[in-house]
Amino acid sequence: MEDEIKRLAVLGSTGSIGRQTLDVVRALPRHFRIIALAAGKNLDLLAEQVAEFKPEFISYFSGRDENGEVEARLASLGGRFLPLEEMAAHPQVDTVVMATAGKAGLAPTLAAVKAGKNIALANKESLVMAGEIVTRQAKLSGARLLPVDSEHSAIWQCLAGENQAPHQIILTASGGPFRDFTPAQLEKVTVAQALAHPSWRMGKKVTIDSATLMNKGLEVIEAHWLFDMPFDRIRVLVHPRSIVHSLVEFADGSVKAQLSRPDMRLPIQYALSYPDRLPNPQLPRLDWDEFDSLTFSQPDLAAFPCLGLAIEAGRKGGTYPAVLCAADEVAVELFLSERIAFVDIAATVERTLAQHDGIARPTLEEVLAADEWAREEALKTAAGVKS
Ligand code: MG
Repeated sequence: MEDEIKRLAVLGSTGSIGRQTLDVVRALPRHFRIIALAAGKNLDLLAEQVAEFKPEFISYFSGRDENGEVEARLASLGGRFLPLEEMAAHPQVDTVVMATAGKAGLAPTLAAVKAGKNIALANKESLVMAGEIVTRQAKLSGARLLPVDSEHSAIWQCLAGENQAPHQIILTASGGPFRDFTPAQLEKVTVAQALAHPSWRMGKKVTIDSATLMNKGLEVIEAHWLFDMPFDRIRVLVHPRSIVHSLVEFADGSVKAQLSRPDMRLPIQYALSYPDRLPNPQLPRLDWDEFDSLTFSQPDLAAFPCLGLAIEAGRKGGTYPAVLCAADEVAVELFLSERIAFVDIAATVERTLAQHDGIARPTLEEVLAADEWAREEALKTAAGVKS
């Protein structure tokens, strides 16, 4: 069995997806081996992970380690330092788990794509900002993009065994903690309320994006690139229980859905074990004795304008999705530090997009320049929209 062990590089190992990836590896040590670990911020946790998994390669951003203590500890644990992009393309790596957050994930994703790797992709920005570039390169190199996000994993699982393009894909959204709030209630939402997601445990940025429905909009753009689907064949339904992770409707009207308890370890594991399914006693199962109803409803685009803004930016394409991402990141940071209100997140993104002169079929440099521009513009804009 030794030769069937998949060798993994986990980029972003100390974040939510990274930690849950390591949980899967702990549960299935005969199937996966960690060969490389990379983290940006939490060097203490990285040192614990390196001590446990003994990877051959490590990567970290040392800017936060002021007296070099953790760096010295990491060096004493062994493991050769590799820059992220070399790690993502290294010949000893079978599957790259791309869990680095934000646009820092873009360059290593492209390096893995160019090297023709299997890429378990959790980094949203790679496809939202540069979906055209990433998917074009993947076609050339034979790299495989294996979705990790629960919705895209669900669609991917529904498409298995089908040989025709689907008629429509339907992404489910929990609707976040404020799905029943009135506009007046939304004006007063606090950071603590926004961080209390009802069904998923995730990092702060994606939790806020779930509360504004921006996250679902970004997922629509990712689905467009991952499954080569036009935007008018992708729809969103609110499903608060987070049991049905997405659905696919076929030419004959038949609909397939993927169901499971909301636990990211399942889609992570499927991306790693694909095309096999592995029994993992640690994954929770649906309890069919306690099962009651599953409900679906239309998203409220007026109360949650970020969803519409994202889909519109996706349709326009070019540099608009990069501007959307950057403006949202700035706005979410301003909200988390209590400098703008929850509803100002959408207003900031909307005004930044309105100021942008898009470039069609941009190069990577043009995408990154649009990102820089949008960050500055969003900061200026946020000062103006502050309610
Ligand atoms: Mg998701």
